[in-house]
Amino acid sequence: MSQQQIYPDVKLFVDGLWCDGVSGYAEPIFNPATGAQIGSVAHASIDDLDRAVNASRDGFEVWRRTSAFDRYKLMRGAAEKLRERVSAIAEIMTLEQGKPLREASAEILLGADIIDWFAEEARRSYGRIIPARSGAVQQAVVREPVGPVAAFTPWNFPINQAVRKISAAMAAGCSVILKGPEETPASCAALVQAYVDAGLPRGVLNLVFGVPSEISEYLITHPVIRKISFTGSTPVGKRLAALAGGHMKRVTMELGGHAPAIVFEDADVREAVRLLAAAKFRNAGQVCVSPTRFVVHEQIYEEFVERFIAAAEAVIVGNGLDETTQMGPLANLRRVEAIESLVSDAVQQRACLRTGGKRSGNEGFFFEPTVLTEVPLSARIMNEEPFGPVVPIARFSTFEDAVAEANRLPYGLAAYAYTKSAATSGAFGAAVESGMVSVNHHGLALPETPFGGIKDSGFGFEGGTEAMDAYLNTKFITEHHV
Ligand code: NAD
Repeated sequence: MSQQQIYPDVKLFVDGLWCDGVSGYAEPIFNPATGAQIGSVAHASIDDLDRAVNASRDGFEVWRRTSAFDRYKLMRGAAEKLRERVSAIAEIMTLEQGKPLREASAEILLGADIIDWFAEEARRSYGRIIPARSGAVQQAVVREPVGPVAAFTPWNFPINQAVRKISAAMAAGCSVILKGPEETPASCAALVQAYVDAGLPRGVLNLVFGVPSEISEYLITHPVIRKISFTGSTPVGKRLAALAGGHMKRVTMELGGHAPAIVFEDADVREAVRLLAAAKFRNAGQVCVSPTRFVVHEQIYEEFVERFIAAAEAVIVGNGLDETTQMGPLANLRRVEAIESLVSDAVQQRACLRTGGKRSGNEGFFFEPTVLTEVPLSARIMNEEPFGPVVPIARFSTFEDAVAEANRLPYGLAAYAYTKSAATSGAFGAAVESGMVSVNHHGLALPETPFGGIKDSGFGFEGGTEAMDAYLNTKFITEHHV
Protein backbone atom coordinates (compact mmCIF):
# COMPACT_ATOMS: atom_id res chain seq x y z
CA MET A 1 0.00 0.00 0.00
CA SER A 2 1.22 3.54 -0.71
CA GLN A 3 1.58 6.09 2.08
CA GLN A 4 -1.49 7.91 0.77
CA GLN A 5 -3.51 4.71 1.12
CA ILE A 6 -2.31 3.99 4.68
CA TYR A 7 -2.79 7.55 5.85
CA PRO A 8 -6.44 8.63 6.30
CA ASP A 9 -8.01 11.98 5.45
CA VAL A 10 -8.83 13.15 8.94
CA LYS A 11 -12.27 14.50 9.81
CA LEU A 12 -13.71 16.37 12.77
CA PHE A 13 -15.50 14.31 15.43
CA VAL A 14 -18.50 16.24 16.71
CA ASP A 15 -21.52 14.95 18.61
CA GLY A 16 -20.66 11.31 17.95
CA LEU A 17 -20.03 11.62 14.19
CA TRP A 18 -16.98 12.01 11.96
CA CYS A 19 -17.65 14.90 9.59
CA ASP A 20 -16.11 17.55 7.36
CA GLY A 21 -16.24 21.16 8.51
CA VAL A 22 -19.05 23.30 7.10
CA SER A 23 -16.51 25.33 5.12
CA GLY A 24 -15.32 22.15 3.37
CA TYR A 25 -11.69 23.29 3.74
CA ALA A 26 -9.08 20.62 4.49
CA GLU A 27 -5.42 21.40 5.26
CA PRO A 28 -2.75 19.20 3.62
CA ILE A 29 -0.62 16.89 5.78
CA PHE A 30 3.02 16.24 4.89
CA ASN A 31 5.42 13.41 5.70
CA PRO A 32 8.43 15.12 7.34
CA ALA A 33 10.75 12.35 6.11
CA THR A 34 10.00 13.07 2.45
CA GLY A 35 8.16 16.39 2.32
CA ALA A 36 5.39 14.66 0.31
CA GLN A 37 1.70 15.28 0.96
CA ILE A 38 0.09 12.19 2.51
CA GLY A 39 -3.41 13.33 3.43
CA SER A 40 -5.48 16.19 4.77
CA VAL A 41 -7.32 17.35 7.87
CA ALA A 42 -10.72 19.06 7.99
CA HIS A 43 -10.92 22.54 9.47
CA ALA A 44 -13.66 23.60 11.88
CA SER A 45 -15.31 26.99 11.58
CA ILE A 46 -17.48 28.72 14.17
CA ASP A 47 -20.60 26.72 13.19
CA ASP A 48 -18.72 23.47 13.76
CA LEU A 49 -17.38 24.76 17.09
CA ASP A 50 -20.90 25.71 18.13
CA ARG A 51 -22.06 22.17 17.46
CA ALA A 52 -19.09 20.84 19.44
CA VAL A 53 -19.87 23.15 22.37
CA ASN A 54 -23.53 22.09 22.42
CA ALA A 55 -22.50 18.44 22.18
CA SER A 56 -20.03 18.84 25.04
CA ARG A 57 -22.74 20.49 27.18
CA ASP A 58 -25.16 17.59 26.52
CA GLY A 59 -22.40 15.01 26.80
CA PHE A 60 -21.40 16.42 30.17
CA GLU A 61 -24.94 15.94 31.52
CA VAL A 62 -24.79 12.26 30.52
CA TRP A 63 -21.21 11.61 31.59
CA ARG A 64 -21.33 13.28 35.00
CA ARG A 65 -24.25 10.94 35.85
CA THR A 66 -22.48 7.85 34.53
CA SER A 67 -21.17 5.94 37.53
CA ALA A 68 -17.45 5.96 38.19
CA PHE A 69 -17.51 2.18 37.70
CA ASP A 70 -19.05 2.49 34.22
CA ARG A 71 -16.60 5.26 33.27
CA TYR A 72 -13.80 2.96 34.41
CA LYS A 73 -15.09 0.06 32.27
CA LEU A 74 -15.40 2.18 29.14
CA MET A 75 -11.95 3.68 29.57
CA ARG A 76 -10.34 0.29 30.13
CA GLY A 77 -12.01 -0.81 26.89
CA ALA A 78 -10.48 2.14 25.02
CA ALA A 79 -7.04 1.24 26.39
CA GLU A 80 -7.40 -2.31 25.08
CA LYS A 81 -8.44 -1.05 21.62
CA LEU A 82 -5.30 1.09 21.49
CA ARG A 83 -3.12 -1.89 22.41
CA GLU A 84 -4.77 -4.07 19.73
CA ARG A 85 -4.09 -1.39 17.09
CA VAL A 86 -0.57 -0.39 18.09
CA SER A 87 1.18 -1.41 14.83
CA ALA A 88 -1.30 0.31 12.53
CA ILE A 89 -1.40 3.52 14.58
CA ALA A 90 2.40 3.59 14.98
CA GLU A 91 2.81 3.58 11.21
CA ILE A 92 0.40 6.49 10.87
CA MET A 93 2.20 8.40 13.62
CA THR A 94 5.61 7.89 12.01
CA LEU A 95 4.25 8.99 8.63
CA GLU A 96 2.85 12.25 10.00
CA GLN A 97 5.34 13.08 12.78
CA GLY A 98 8.60 11.42 11.73
CA LYS A 99 9.63 9.62 14.92
CA PRO A 100 10.99 6.06 14.61
CA LEU A 101 8.37 3.30 14.68
CA ARG A 102 9.59 1.93 18.00
CA GLU A 103 9.15 5.36 19.64
CA ALA A 104 5.67 5.63 18.12
CA SER A 105 4.71 2.18 19.44
CA ALA A 106 6.06 3.03 22.89
CA GLU A 107 4.02 6.24 22.91
CA ILE A 108 0.81 4.38 22.02
CA LEU A 109 1.37 1.67 24.63
CA LEU A 110 2.14 4.30 27.27
CA GLY A 111 -1.08 6.03 26.18
CA ALA A 112 -3.00 2.83 26.95
CA ASP A 113 -1.33 2.67 30.38
CA ILE A 114 -2.31 6.29 31.02
CA ILE A 115 -5.96 5.53 30.22
CA ASP A 116 -5.84 2.52 32.57
CA TRP A 117 -4.36 4.60 35.37
CA PHE A 118 -7.01 7.32 35.12
CA ALA A 119 -9.79 4.74 34.71
CA GLU A 120 -8.75 3.33 38.05
CA GLU A 121 -8.42 6.79 39.60
CA ALA A 122 -12.02 7.48 38.52
CA ARG A 123 -13.10 4.90 41.10
CA ARG A 124 -11.00 6.52 43.84
CA SER A 125 -12.24 10.06 43.57
CA TYR A 126 -13.27 10.28 47.22
CA GLY A 127 -14.77 13.08 49.28
CA ARG A 128 -14.42 13.31 53.06
CA ILE A 129 -16.35 14.01 56.27
CA ILE A 130 -14.92 16.70 58.55
CA PRO A 131 -15.69 16.33 62.28
CA ALA A 132 -18.15 19.08 63.24
CA ARG A 133 -18.18 21.27 66.35
CA SER A 134 -21.75 20.14 67.10
CA GLY A 135 -23.19 16.62 67.10
CA ALA A 136 -26.18 17.92 65.14
CA VAL A 137 -24.03 19.04 62.20
CA GLN A 138 -22.56 16.94 59.42
CA GLN A 139 -19.81 18.50 57.27
CA ALA A 140 -19.10 16.81 53.96
CA VAL A 141 -16.63 17.60 51.19
CA VAL A 142 -17.56 16.23 47.77
CA ARG A 143 -15.64 16.32 44.49
CA GLU A 144 -17.57 17.19 41.33
CA PRO A 145 -16.45 17.37 37.68
CA VAL A 146 -15.62 20.94 36.72
CA GLY A 147 -17.61 20.81 33.44
CA PRO A 148 -16.88 20.74 29.69
CA VAL A 149 -13.14 21.07 29.02
CA ALA A 150 -11.34 22.66 26.06
CA ALA A 151 -7.98 20.91 25.56
CA PHE A 152 -5.22 22.00 23.15
CA THR A 153 -2.41 19.61 22.27
CA PRO A 154 0.73 19.86 20.11
CA TRP A 155 2.38 17.78 17.41
CA ASN A 156 5.44 16.35 19.20
CA PHE A 157 3.56 13.52 20.96
CA PRO A 158 0.25 13.37 19.07
CA ILE A 159 -1.23 10.68 21.35
CA ASN A 160 0.57 11.19 24.61
CA GLN A 161 -0.22 14.89 24.97
CA ALA A 162 -3.89 14.30 24.16
CA VAL A 163 -4.43 11.14 26.17
CA ARG A 164 -3.27 12.75 29.42
CA LYS A 165 -5.85 15.50 29.16
CA ILE A 166 -8.72 13.41 27.78
CA SER A 167 -8.29 10.60 30.28
CA ALA A 168 -7.96 12.73 33.41
CA ALA A 169 -10.94 14.85 32.37
CA MET A 170 -13.11 11.88 31.48
CA ALA A 171 -12.16 10.00 34.64
CA ALA A 172 -13.34 13.02 36.63
CA GLY A 173 -16.68 13.04 34.75
CA CYS A 174 -15.98 15.96 32.40
CA SER A 175 -16.75 16.12 28.69
CA VAL A 176 -14.00 17.33 26.34
CA ILE A 177 -13.49 19.30 23.15
CA LEU A 178 -9.98 18.46 22.02
CA LYS A 179 -8.25 20.71 19.52
CA GLY A 180 -5.70 18.30 18.19
CA PRO A 181 -2.48 19.13 16.34
CA GLU A 182 -3.19 20.12 12.70
CA GLU A 183 0.19 18.80 11.51
CA THR A 184 -0.18 15.34 13.11
CA PRO A 185 -3.94 14.76 13.32
CA ALA A 186 -4.41 11.09 12.38
CA SER A 187 -2.94 9.38 15.42
CA CYS A 188 -4.97 11.73 17.61
CA ALA A 189 -8.08 10.69 15.63
CA ALA A 190 -7.14 7.02 16.16
CA LEU A 191 -7.10 7.69 19.91
CA VAL A 192 -10.60 9.16 19.73
CA GLN A 193 -11.73 6.17 17.62
CA ALA A 194 -10.52 3.80 20.37
CA TYR A 195 -12.86 5.58 22.79
CA VAL A 196 -15.71 5.50 20.25
CA ASP A 197 -15.28 1.77 19.70
CA ALA A 198 -15.31 1.21 23.45
CA GLY A 199 -18.85 2.65 23.59
CA LEU A 200 -18.35 6.37 24.21
CA PRO A 201 -21.70 8.23 24.58
CA ARG A 202 -22.32 11.08 22.12
CA GLY A 203 -20.83 14.44 22.93
CA VAL A 204 -18.52 13.27 25.73
CA LEU A 205 -15.43 13.61 23.53
CA ASN A 206 -15.23 15.87 20.47
CA LEU A 207 -12.21 16.43 18.24
CA VAL A 208 -11.66 19.57 16.19
CA PHE A 209 -8.88 21.05 14.07
CA GLY A 210 -8.52 24.41 12.37
CA VAL A 211 -6.86 27.77 12.94
CA PRO A 212 -5.50 27.45 16.51
CA SER A 213 -5.98 31.08 17.53
CA GLU A 214 -9.57 31.18 16.23
CA ILE A 215 -10.52 27.97 18.00
CA SER A 216 -8.86 28.88 21.29
CA GLU A 217 -10.37 32.37 21.38
CA TYR A 218 -13.82 30.99 20.70
CA LEU A 219 -13.71 28.06 23.12
CA ILE A 220 -11.87 29.72 26.00
CA THR A 221 -14.34 32.60 26.15
CA HIS A 222 -17.45 30.44 25.61
CA PRO A 223 -19.57 30.24 28.80
CA VAL A 224 -20.22 26.48 28.44
CA ILE A 225 -16.46 25.70 28.68
CA ARG A 226 -15.31 25.60 32.31
CA LYS A 227 -11.70 24.44 32.12
CA ILE A 228 -8.77 24.99 29.75
CA SER A 229 -5.79 22.68 29.37
CA PHE A 230 -2.97 23.59 26.98
CA THR A 231 0.36 22.03 26.05
CA GLY A 232 2.71 24.06 23.86
CA SER A 233 5.08 26.98 23.95
CA THR A 234 5.37 29.46 26.83
CA PRO A 235 4.40 32.56 24.79
CA VAL A 236 1.19 30.94 23.52
CA GLY A 237 0.45 29.50 26.97
CA LYS A 238 0.71 32.94 28.56
CA ARG A 239 -1.72 34.36 26.00
CA LEU A 240 -4.25 31.59 26.57
CA ALA A 241 -3.90 31.74 30.38
CA ALA A 242 -4.54 35.50 30.27
CA LEU A 243 -7.64 34.96 28.15
CA ALA A 244 -8.88 32.25 30.52
CA GLY A 245 -8.15 34.49 33.52
CA GLY A 246 -10.35 37.20 32.03
CA HIS A 247 -13.22 34.72 32.14
CA MET A 248 -12.26 33.12 35.48
CA LYS A 249 -11.68 29.74 33.89
CA ARG A 250 -9.42 27.16 35.49
CA VAL A 251 -6.27 26.31 33.55
CA THR A 252 -3.60 23.65 33.28
CA MET A 253 -0.56 24.90 31.34
CA GLU A 254 2.17 22.47 30.23
CA LEU A 255 4.69 24.80 28.59
CA GLY A 256 8.26 24.86 27.44
CA GLY A 257 11.42 24.02 29.34
CA HIS A 258 15.19 24.27 29.02
CA ALA A 259 16.25 21.38 31.23
CA PRO A 260 19.69 21.52 32.87
CA ALA A 261 21.61 18.24 33.03
CA ILE A 262 24.35 18.55 35.65
CA VAL A 263 27.07 15.91 35.57
CA PHE A 264 29.01 15.98 38.85
CA GLU A 265 32.65 14.91 39.18
CA ASP A 266 31.80 11.57 40.81
CA ALA A 267 29.34 10.51 38.08
CA ASP A 268 29.70 7.37 36.01
CA VAL A 269 30.65 9.24 32.82
CA ARG A 270 29.98 6.37 30.39
CA GLU A 271 26.54 5.76 31.84
CA ALA A 272 25.71 9.51 31.93
CA VAL A 273 26.68 9.82 28.25
CA ARG A 274 24.63 6.75 27.28
CA LEU A 275 21.49 7.93 29.07
CA LEU A 276 21.81 11.60 28.12
CA ALA A 277 22.39 10.79 24.43
CA ALA A 278 19.31 8.53 24.39
CA ALA A 279 17.21 11.23 26.08
CA LYS A 280 18.64 14.08 23.99
CA PHE A 281 18.03 12.54 20.56
CA ARG A 282 14.67 10.91 21.39
CA ASN A 283 12.01 12.36 19.07
CA ALA A 284 14.85 14.40 17.51
CA GLY A 285 14.97 16.53 20.66
CA GLN A 286 11.38 17.76 20.25
CA VAL A 287 10.46 16.93 23.83
CA CYS A 288 9.55 19.47 26.49
CA VAL A 289 11.61 17.57 29.12
CA SER A 290 14.55 16.96 26.79
CA PRO A 291 17.91 17.66 28.52
CA THR A 292 19.02 20.88 26.80
CA ARG A 293 21.78 22.55 28.83
CA PHE A 294 24.55 20.11 29.74
CA VAL A 295 26.73 21.40 32.56
CA VAL A 296 29.67 19.13 33.34
CA HIS A 297 32.25 19.30 36.14
CA GLU A 298 35.63 20.53 34.88
CA GLN A 299 37.45 17.38 36.08
CA ILE A 300 35.47 15.11 33.76
CA TYR A 301 34.52 17.69 31.11
CA GLU A 302 36.95 16.64 28.35
CA GLU A 303 36.14 12.94 28.73
CA PHE A 304 32.40 13.65 28.76
CA VAL A 305 32.56 15.86 25.64
CA GLU A 306 34.62 13.34 23.65
CA ARG A 307 32.32 10.47 24.59
CA PHE A 308 29.17 12.51 23.90
CA ILE A 309 30.41 13.59 20.45
CA ALA A 310 31.06 9.92 19.64
CA ALA A 311 27.55 9.02 20.82
CA ALA A 312 26.02 11.83 18.72
CA GLU A 313 27.94 10.73 15.63
CA ALA A 314 26.81 7.12 16.14
CA VAL A 315 23.08 7.99 16.02
CA ILE A 316 21.51 6.48 12.89
CA VAL A 317 19.38 9.22 11.33
CA GLY A 318 16.77 8.24 8.75
CA ASN A 319 13.18 7.61 7.83
CA GLY A 320 11.34 6.47 10.96
CA LEU A 321 9.78 3.61 8.98
CA ASP A 322 13.23 1.97 8.61
CA GLU A 323 13.85 -0.47 11.44
CA THR A 324 17.45 0.65 11.92
CA THR A 325 16.59 4.34 12.34
CA GLN A 326 17.34 5.79 15.76
CA MET A 327 16.40 9.41 15.03
CA GLY A 328 13.90 10.62 12.44
CA PRO A 329 13.44 14.03 10.83
CA LEU A 330 12.25 17.14 12.61
CA ALA A 331 8.47 17.42 12.46
CA ASN A 332 8.29 20.42 10.13
CA LEU A 333 10.33 22.98 8.23
CA ARG A 334 9.82 25.60 11.00
CA ARG A 335 11.88 23.47 13.38
CA VAL A 336 14.71 23.01 10.85
CA GLU A 337 14.89 26.76 10.31
CA ALA A 338 14.71 27.41 14.06
CA ILE A 339 17.59 25.00 14.79
CA GLU A 340 19.70 26.39 11.92
CA SER A 341 19.21 29.85 13.31
CA LEU A 342 20.10 28.83 16.91
CA VAL A 343 23.30 27.09 15.74
CA SER A 344 24.42 29.95 13.49
CA ASP A 345 23.77 32.50 16.26
CA ALA A 346 25.90 30.43 18.69
CA VAL A 347 28.72 30.05 16.16
CA GLN A 348 28.63 33.78 15.39
CA GLN A 349 29.08 34.35 19.12
CA ARG A 350 32.25 32.18 19.02
CA ALA A 351 30.78 28.88 20.19
CA CYS A 352 32.68 25.83 19.01
CA LEU A 353 30.68 23.53 16.68
CA ARG A 354 32.02 20.08 17.61
CA THR A 355 29.81 17.90 15.41
CA GLY A 356 26.70 18.21 13.21
CA GLY A 357 25.26 21.66 12.70
CA LYS A 358 23.45 21.30 9.39
CA ARG A 359 20.58 19.68 7.54
CA SER A 360 21.11 16.21 6.16
CA GLY A 361 19.64 14.23 3.25
CA ASN A 362 18.21 15.70 0.08
CA GLU A 363 14.55 15.49 1.08
CA GLY A 364 12.51 15.91 4.25
CA PHE A 365 13.39 17.82 7.41
CA PHE A 366 16.47 16.02 8.74
CA PHE A 367 19.05 17.72 10.95
CA GLU A 368 22.29 16.23 12.21
CA PRO A 369 22.80 15.49 15.92
CA THR A 370 24.73 18.57 16.97
CA VAL A 371 27.12 19.38 19.82
CA LEU A 372 28.33 22.87 20.73
CA THR A 373 30.91 23.81 23.36
CA GLU A 374 32.25 27.14 24.68
CA VAL A 375 28.82 28.70 24.12
CA PRO A 376 28.49 32.15 25.75
CA LEU A 377 25.46 32.73 27.97
CA SER A 378 24.38 35.49 25.59
CA ALA A 379 23.79 32.94 22.79
CA ARG A 380 20.12 32.37 22.07
CA ILE A 381 20.43 28.62 22.55
CA MET A 382 21.43 29.18 26.19
CA ASN A 383 18.17 31.06 26.76
CA GLU A 384 15.52 29.76 24.32
CA GLU A 385 14.08 26.25 24.33
CA PRO A 386 15.94 24.52 21.45
CA PHE A 387 13.36 21.77 20.67
CA GLY A 388 15.73 19.94 18.36
CA PRO A 389 18.77 17.59 18.27
CA VAL A 390 21.33 20.13 19.43
CA VAL A 391 23.06 20.45 22.77
CA PRO A 392 25.42 23.01 24.29
CA ILE A 393 27.90 21.55 26.82
CA ALA A 394 29.36 23.90 29.44
CA ARG A 395 31.68 23.29 32.40
CA PHE A 396 31.40 24.17 36.10
CA SER A 397 33.69 24.00 39.10
CA THR A 398 31.54 24.31 42.23
CA PHE A 399 28.14 22.95 43.28
CA GLU A 400 26.92 26.55 43.71
CA ASP A 401 27.91 27.42 40.11
CA ALA A 402 26.04 24.39 38.79
CA VAL A 403 22.88 25.27 40.72
CA ALA A 404 23.13 28.92 39.65
CA GLU A 405 23.24 27.84 35.99
CA ALA A 406 20.38 25.38 36.49
CA ASN A 407 18.20 28.12 38.01
CA ARG A 408 19.33 30.97 35.71
CA LEU A 409 16.38 30.83 33.32
CA PRO A 410 12.70 31.54 33.94
CA TYR A 411 11.87 27.93 32.97
CA GLY A 412 11.31 25.23 35.60
CA LEU A 413 10.08 22.01 34.00
CA ALA A 414 12.66 19.22 34.30
CA ALA A 415 16.18 19.02 35.74
CA TYR A 416 18.66 16.13 35.64
CA ALA A 417 21.74 15.28 37.66
CA TYR A 418 24.34 12.54 37.57
CA THR A 419 26.25 11.75 40.78
CA LYS A 420 27.10 8.77 42.96
CA SER A 421 26.74 10.87 46.11
CA ALA A 422 23.44 10.74 47.98
CA ALA A 423 24.38 14.03 49.67
CA THR A 424 24.95 15.80 46.32
CA SER A 425 21.76 14.31 44.91
CA GLY A 426 19.74 15.47 47.94
CA ALA A 427 21.28 18.94 47.90
CA PHE A 428 20.63 19.32 44.15
CA GLY A 429 17.02 18.13 44.49
CA ALA A 430 16.43 20.73 47.20
CA ALA A 431 18.18 23.62 45.42
CA VAL A 432 16.92 23.31 41.86
CA GLU A 433 13.84 25.29 40.83
CA SER A 434 11.99 22.71 38.78
CA GLY A 435 8.72 20.83 38.73
CA MET A 436 10.52 17.51 38.18
CA VAL A 437 14.01 16.30 39.10
CA SER A 438 15.52 13.03 37.89
CA VAL A 439 18.87 11.77 39.18
CA ASN A 440 21.02 9.10 37.47
CA HIS A 441 18.19 8.16 35.13
CA HIS A 442 15.39 9.74 33.07
CA GLY A 443 12.36 8.59 35.00
CA LEU A 444 9.70 11.16 34.12
CA ALA A 445 6.23 11.02 32.53
CA LEU A 446 4.85 7.81 34.01
CA PRO A 447 1.06 7.72 34.42
CA GLU A 448 1.28 7.46 38.21
CA THR A 449 3.79 10.28 38.76
CA PRO A 450 3.11 14.04 38.63
CA PHE A 451 4.18 15.72 35.39
CA GLY A 452 4.38 19.50 35.23
CA GLY A 453 6.42 22.64 35.63
CA ILE A 454 6.81 25.79 37.68
CA LYS A 455 7.79 29.37 36.76
CA ASP A 456 7.41 29.99 33.00
CA SER A 457 7.02 26.27 32.38
CA GLY A 458 3.43 26.37 33.46
CA PHE A 459 0.92 25.50 36.07
CA GLY A 460 -0.65 22.21 37.19
CA PHE A 461 0.20 18.55 36.79
CA GLU A 462 -0.80 15.92 34.24
CA GLY A 463 0.13 12.67 35.94
CA GLY A 464 -0.43 11.12 39.33
CA THR A 465 -3.35 11.93 41.60
CA GLU A 466 -2.69 15.66 41.05
CA ALA A 467 -3.93 15.33 37.48
CA MET A 468 -7.45 14.41 38.58
CA ASP A 469 -7.62 17.45 40.88
CA ALA A 470 -7.30 19.66 37.82
CA TYR A 471 -10.72 18.52 36.58
CA LEU A 472 -12.58 18.45 39.90
CA ASN A 473 -14.32 21.14 41.89
CA THR A 474 -14.48 20.86 45.66
CA LYS A 475 -17.90 21.41 47.20
CA PHE A 476 -18.42 21.79 50.96
CA ILE A 477 -21.86 20.78 52.27
CA THR A 478 -22.76 21.36 55.91
CA GLU A 479 -26.07 20.14 57.27
CA HIS A 480 -27.72 20.78 60.61
CA HIS A 481 -29.97 17.80 61.37
CA VAL A 482 -33.44 18.97 62.35
P1 NAD B 1 3.74 27.52 18.31
O1 NAD B 1 4.17 28.20 19.54
O2 NAD B 1 3.06 28.34 17.26
O3 NAD B 1 2.77 26.29 18.61
C1 NAD B 1 2.93 25.41 19.70
C2 NAD B 1 1.59 24.68 19.85
O4 NAD B 1 0.60 25.62 20.26
C3 NAD B 1 1.05 24.07 18.55
O5 NAD B 1 0.43 22.85 18.86
C4 NAD B 1 0.02 25.08 18.05
O6 NAD B 1 -1.02 24.49 17.32
C5 NAD B 1 -0.50 25.63 19.34
N1 NAD B 1 -0.95 27.02 19.23
C6 NAD B 1 -0.29 28.06 18.68
N2 NAD B 1 -1.01 29.19 18.80
C7 NAD B 1 -2.16 28.85 19.43
C8 NAD B 1 -3.32 29.56 19.85
N3 NAD B 1 -3.42 30.89 19.67
N4 NAD B 1 -4.30 28.87 20.46
C9 NAD B 1 -4.20 27.54 20.68
N5 NAD B 1 -3.13 26.81 20.32
C10 NAD B 1 -2.12 27.46 19.71
O7 NAD B 1 5.00 26.93 17.61
P2 NAD B 1 5.46 25.57 16.97
O8 NAD B 1 6.31 25.94 15.82
O9 NAD B 1 4.35 24.61 16.69
O10 NAD B 1 6.36 25.01 18.12
C11 NAD B 1 7.43 25.84 18.53
C12 NAD B 1 7.66 25.79 19.97
O11 NAD B 1 6.56 25.36 20.73
C13 NAD B 1 8.76 24.82 20.30
O12 NAD B 1 9.99 25.42 20.14
C14 NAD B 1 8.49 24.47 21.71
O13 NAD B 1 9.11 25.44 22.53
C15 NAD B 1 7.01 24.63 21.86
N6 NAD B 1 6.30 23.34 21.94
C16 NAD B 1 6.22 22.79 23.16
C17 NAD B 1 5.61 21.57 23.29
C18 NAD B 1 5.52 20.90 24.63
O14 NAD B 1 5.45 19.69 24.68
N7 NAD B 1 5.50 21.66 25.72
C19 NAD B 1 5.08 20.92 22.17
C20 NAD B 1 5.17 21.56 20.93
C21 NAD B 1 5.78 22.78 20.83
